Amino acid sequence: MPRFFVETLGCPKNAVDSDKIIASLLADGLESSAEVGDADLVVVNTCAFVEAARQESIDTALALADAAKPGARLVLTGCMAERYGEELADALPEVDAVVGFAGEGSLSEVVLLGRKPTGVRDLLELARPAPSAPWAYVKVAEGCDRACAFCAIPSFRGKQRSRSPEAIEVETRGLVEAGVAEIVLVAQDLAWYGRDTGEPGALAPLLARLDRLSSEGLARIRLLYLYPSEVRDPLVATMLELPTVVPYFDLSLQHASAPLMRRMKRWGNGERFLELISGIRASEPAAAFRSSFIVGFPGERERDHDELLAFLAAARLDWAGFFGFSAEDGTAAATMDDTVADDVMVERLRECSELQDPITRDARDALIGTVVDVLVDHFDDSDPGAGVLVGRTHREAPEIDGVVRLVGAGFARPGAIVAAEVTGALGPDLEARVLATVGGQPT
Ligand code: SF4
Repeated sequence: MPRFFVETLGCPKNAVDSDKIIASLLADGLESSAEVGDADLVVVNTCAFVEAARQESIDTALALADAAKPGARLVLTGCMAERYGEELADALPEVDAVVGFAGEGSLSEVVLLGRKPTGVRDLLELARPAPSAPWAYVKVAEGCDRACAFCAIPSFRGKQRSRSPEAIEVETRGLVEAGVAEIVLVAQDLAWYGRDTGEPGALAPLLARLDRLSSEGLARIRLLYLYPSEVRDPLVATMLELPTVVPYFDLSLQHASAPLMRRMKRWGNGERFLELISGIRASEPAAAFRSSFIVGFPGERERDHDELLAFLAAARLDWAGFFGFSAEDGTAAATMDDTVADDVMVERLRECSELQDPITRDARDALIGTVVDVLVDHFDDSDPGAGVLVGRTHREAPEIDGVVRLVGAGFARPGAIVAAEVTGALGPDLEARVLATVGGQPT
C-alpha cells in the first residue's frame, strides 16, 4: 500500500487543511508514514504569510526532497502554492506538482496513477479530519473583508465566506464523537463571522449552539483571531457566560500607536485596547490574553515604538508574539516609504521580547499553588517510561502557548480533564500534580 507523509508549515489554520488532506489520503486508501524516507508521496502544506514563512516552506520542501526515497513524489500545496504556483513549479524541479486550492483532482492520483493533480478544493471541503488529539481546529469562515496594509491574505483568500452554523455543528459533533474535547474556532477574522451572510454578530449564537454539544462530550470551545473592534459587549458576555467557552482572548492588535495603526489601515490604539482588556478582566479575573504585533512597519518612529512598549507594560498580556515587518507583494505597505532599517527593527524586536518575557513568566509563576483544570493532550514523548502527561488549562491554546506537564497522572488519559495543583513553572510551561479527574471525554 502506498504511504504518504505530510509536513505542515505556518499558521494553525494550515493544520486544519492538513488534517483534511490526511483524511482524504486515508480515504483514498493510502497509509500514513511517520518517516519521510518511507513515504511514496510527500506533501508540503506551505505558508505564504511573510517572507520568513515562504523561505521556511522552500527550505522544508528541499530538505524533504533530499530525505525522500528514490521515486517518491513531492507535492506542494497551501497558500504559497496557490499564490506562486507557476514560479514554484519552474524554480523547484525537485517538486512533482504544485497544487493550489482551485481545480479538480486528488493528491492520491500523484502516487496511485502517476497523474499530476490540479487541485484539492473538493477534498478539503468534503473530507472530515481524523483527529489525532483531544482538540481540533474548526474553520468557521474563509477569506477576509479587511485590507490591512501589510497583509496579502485577502488578495489570495478572497472575501469572507462564512460556513453555515449547521455545517459547523455537524463537523463539531463528528469531532466530539471521535474523542475531541476541545474545539478551536478559527477564521481570518473570527468575530466577523456571519457578516457576509447578512448576520453580523452571528458568532455569539454560534457559540450558544455549539455549547449545547457539552451534553455529548464537548468540554471547551476556544476562539482564535479576534479583531479588537468586533470584541463587543454581547460577544464578551456570551463568551464569559457559556460554560464551554474558555475565557481566552486572542486579540489581533498588531501595534498600539494610533498614527501607525492608521498607516496599517487598522482600527484602534493602545488606550482603546487597554479599556477592552481591563473591562474583560473586571468581569473575569482569570481571563487570559494573547496578541501579536508587527515591529518595524514603515513609518514606525521611536515614539511609536515607545508607545508599544508602554502598552505592553500596562496590558500585561499572558502571551505575545512579535514579528518583524516584511513587505508582501501587492500590499499597500510594500510601496510605502519611510522604511525602518533592519538593525533598528532587530533592536526593537529585542526590546519587545525583553519586556514581554518577564511579564509572561510572572503570570506563570503567579499560578504556582493554585488548582487548575487541565485537558490532557498526550503522553510526554521525551520520557515515555515516566508516565508524564502533557495538557493545557484555558490559558494555553494548542501549538502556540506553553503547556502543563502533569505528574502523578497514572489514572488519567488523553481527553480527560483533571484538577491539578501547580507545583512549578519553567518559562512558559507549568508543572502540576494531578488531584482528580473532573471531566472531559470518557477514557
Ligand atoms: S484582518 Fe487579518 S487576514 Fe484580514 S487583512 Fe487584516 S491581517 Fe489580513
